[in-house]
Amino acid sequence: MSRLLINRRKLLAGGPLIPLAASSLAQVKPPNVAIASSNGLRACARAMEILKAGGDTLDAAIAGVNINEEDPEDNSVGYGGLPNEDGIVELDASVMHGPTRRAGAVAALRGIKTPSKVARLVMEQTDHIMLVGEGALRFAKAHGFKEEELLTEKSRLAWLVWKSSLKDSRGRSNWGPGLDAPPAPQKIGELRRIFPGVDERTLAWAWEVATHPPLGTINCLTLNSKGEMSGVTTTSGLAWKIPGRVGDSPIIGAGLFVDQDVGAAGSTGRGEENIRVAGAHTVVENMRRGMHPREAVLDALKRVSRNFNDDLQRLSAISLNFYALRRDGAYAAASLWDRSSPQAKPAQFAACTDGAASRLEPMAWLYQRR
Ligand code: ASP
Repeated sequence: MSRLLINRRKLLAGGPLIPLAASSLAQVKPPNVAIASSNGLRACARAMEILKAGGDTLDAAIAGVNINEEDPEDNSVGYGGLPNEDGIVELDASVMHGPTRRAGAVAALRGIKTPSKVARLVMEQTDHIMLVGEGALRFAKAHGFKEEELLTEKSRLAWLVWKSSLKDSRGRSNWGPGLDAPPAPQKIGELRRIFPGVDERTLAWAWEVATHPPLGTINCLTLNSKGEMSGVTTTSGLAWKIPGRVGDSPIIGAGLFVDQDVGAAGSTGRGEENIRVAGAHTVVENMRRGMHPREAVLDALKRVSRNFNDDLQRLSAISLNFYALRRDGAYAAASLWDRSSPQAKPAQFAACTDGAASRLEPMAWLYQRR
């Protein structure tokens, strides 16, 4: 059971807001900074190398998230992402480039490992902002991207386990052994029978993700010492989603927003709830009105909570995170809950600042699980 606890810092958000004159932020000479969701330790380190070498902030953010997109072990992004209910990996991504104030996005894109790069091409090479589905794939191929199978054997196994976990009211599944099969001693025994040759550990993992679909996604926000900012959000979306479902990640203003005068924000977690509060835009506007990044992300989470009349029972099923980086280098991230379950570790995000190693830092939170 969960219970509302007071996160003291949250209360500070109620103080008077001093509108931020863009010029006052512009006067600060910021450090190089990269922040990301907790799966972005390597992404932040890579982005920082590019920022330090004087590279563009969007180049840095994209190079960072490409590590996750190409990593078959990251089941929430790009290649190896968990598929939709038909077993097909569909990817969403968005990019924003602060200095030129431009944006690009792709949604429900199949067969391309690095949707963030395609989103950048949409931004640079078209007069549009977002391409989806078949059109996005044709556009990517026209620009030389290779169409590939994105479903790894591990993700395919998890998808099949998910299918076999869907039972009718009598406990039967068309995707499992029939009535004529000898009784299996236990769940893992049943799985072993359907998937002979798969080791126990992988089966246990597949059962876990089939029955508790994990959230993922990577959001990465970058700032260089010239005060330029960019951001990227890229994901395979919710596991087992209805084909064609698009989450918040490619929606400019929800999964990502950058305003070169103020700052950048992004989100991971249950996209449907984020879209309903236009989260990343809300966070940036909060910073424009004078909130510190920490208060800005907590305020956006309060709006999500308000959409459920602050009903903690219903909110306990939602996992949602916001990340914010201000133009002067101040940054923060917050999660709706302090941890994903009472047994889990406290929520963290990745950050890399000039002269320091990429590290995980604690997130602020709105509610505490008990
Ligand atoms: N925000 C992503 C979506 O809703 C999922 C996630 O972050 O795990 O598609």
